[in-house]
Amino acid sequence: MAKPCILDIPRLDILGLDHSRSAMNRIRKNVEAMQGYVPGEQPFDTSVVKLNTNENPYPPSPKVLEAIQALTENQLRKYPNPSAAALREAIAALHGVLPEQVIVGNGSDEVLALCTRAFVHDGGRTAWFDPSYSLYPVLAKIADSEALPLPLGPNFSWQVPDEIDADLFFITDPNAPTSLLHDLDNVAALADRYPGVILLDEAYADFAERNGMALVDQHDNIIVSRTLSKSYSLAAMRIGYAVGPVKLIQALHKIRDSYNMNLASQAAGLAAITDQAWMKANTAKIIATRTRLRNHLINEGWDVAESHTNFLWMKPPSDQKANEIFDHLYAQKIFIRYFPGERTRDWMRVSVGTDAEMDAFLNGLPK
Ligand code: PMP
Repeated sequence: MAKPCILDIPRLDILGLDHSRSAMNRIRKNVEAMQGYVPGEQPFDTSVVKLNTNENPYPPSPKVLEAIQALTENQLRKYPNPSAAALREAIAALHGVLPEQVIVGNGSDEVLALCTRAFVHDGGRTAWFDPSYSLYPVLAKIADSEALPLPLGPNFSWQVPDEIDADLFFITDPNAPTSLLHDLDNVAALADRYPGVILLDEAYADFAERNGMALVDQHDNIIVSRTLSKSYSLAAMRIGYAVGPVKLIQALHKIRDSYNMNLASQAAGLAAITDQAWMKANTAKIIATRTRLRNHLINEGWDVAESHTNFLWMKPPSDQKANEIFDHLYAQKIFIRYFPGERTRDWMRVSVGTDAEMDAFLNGLPK
């Protein structure tokens, strides 16, 4: 089924603009050649059961809306704090690190982009596991770097070559879209022998029983990134952050936009981070639903990876095809995510929603 194009970029050819004009030739070759990142579809239709972008089905802490509503016209008139100092201090206190070890970004996507800009040298290399987050190849192309996708082993397990020649290595843990956790000893051992920067992307860490934040103090080449889009239910506010060695974090601060997080997001982030109990209660509900859905599907003959995230990575029984199930659900306005690549095409990724949304998903499956 043809999916609507969700990129809002105006088509120059249909606007009748002249391509031969010299400014059109100024587009950098790597930018001209690349495809932009295509995020999961965000429909205007609110009746869609949306299980395609790992959003949280529960609302954020009520303190978040209170903080946004408390903003004054006088505050809006002025620039926000350039480094989001209050939010960074709260994040530092949460993780027991110095505020100088923290940078916030317009979503953790911005933090990842800053890492490629700061650490990948001209003609350098960017590495990541394949499959993992599909933004990394796009960032590698924007940096005009050589891509080094490292295939995961059987059953999407950890597998790295003895030597990795790359400036920056994105490691997603728990991994997306596979939902699996890597062994932290493997990450630590790799950091000891790998001369580049490791960006440990922990977007889903709050749904896992352990995380790698402690590695930051033990290694001078590990940065951990987190997001408030998933466990804190704040995808629309675009709040992400990274924690790492002061020297590496200072490099990111140097190249970020002067005011890279707006005032409302700084206020929302601070309110959310300081209400850990709310986030943990929502996370517990999601984990309970995740367990129920996984057990149900396994009983029905599905192969479902052991999830440490707010989504399930699932392969239907052999008489059904994942892409056909995707189309079947899409026609009923139930959105999930399908990745057509060689390693992923037999699988589908389903965000854990409310129990009612999970029932809609199960009822929508082909009979
Ligand atoms: N990392 C991973 C692995 C993700 O799945 C996502 C969400 N698409 C992000 C980072 C980015 O999250 P955000 O920019 O919303 O913080």
